[in-house]
Amino acid sequence: MAKKVGIFGGTFDPIHIGHLRGALEVAEQLGFEELRLIPSARPPHRDTPQVSAADRLAMVEQAVAGVPPLKVDDRELKRDMPSYSIDTLESLRTELAAADQLFLLLGWDAFCGLPTWHRWEELLEHCHILVLQRPDADSEAPEALRDLLAARSVSDPQVLSGPSGQIAFVWQTPLAVSATQIRNLLASGKSVRFLVPDAVLAYIHAHGLYRAPN
Ligand code: ATP
Repeated sequence: MAKKVGIFGGTFDPIHIGHLRGALEVAEQLGFEELRLIPSARPPHRDTPQVSAADRLAMVEQAVAGVPPLKVDDRELKRDMPSYSIDTLESLRTELAAADQLFLLLGWDAFCGLPTWHRWEELLEHCHILVLQRPDADSEAPEALRDLLAARSVSDPQVLSGPSGQIAFVWQTPLAVSATQIRNLLASGKSVRFLVPDAVLAYIHAHGLYRAPN
């Protein structure tokens, strides 16, 4: 029986309920055996407070502890350079059986940026793409994605067939939360309770993360 594995990448700076609730709902809707959250190495141009990759990883670990089928996969942080999704997919594929279904979850904003990704046209050779609608997003897909959507999208994510190659949009409880908002709240001394799991909040406080510099 083919296994269903989902992957969800992000900087997770920090991980929040928008990521977690979306991941869990999709995993349950589609019956994933596992859904791996993959923290990415932060691109050097991102201008954020100094939170290490180890802290971002630890927060994801805290967030998913005891929440099957969510798991953490730290392969992108183990590399020296920020990695391309195509490399991650190729690496994951070596660990799966050929018939296993691999699903790449992307928020709508991330999906719209797809044409700028390295070797983006090859992504669907390795996985299906599931697009999570984000409440604060524009509704028009960029021009460069229209042909791809016309050729590859299916209206019902439940009917995605085979190991890879199709695109579907998935429903999730709309939660207009972003990591940027959370960092800003913390930097101005406000609470982020209920926007992140309590264990993540405890980690943030214990390690003094995201505080405004004195
Ligand atoms: P930042 O505000 O720092 O840009 P972010 O909240 O967008 O961060 P990322 O780690 O950059 O979080 O996002 C990882 C993935 O999660 C992306 O595909 C993004 O679209 C998706 N995502 C983030 N927040 C939400 C949300 N509230 N609902 C649905 N998807 C989300």
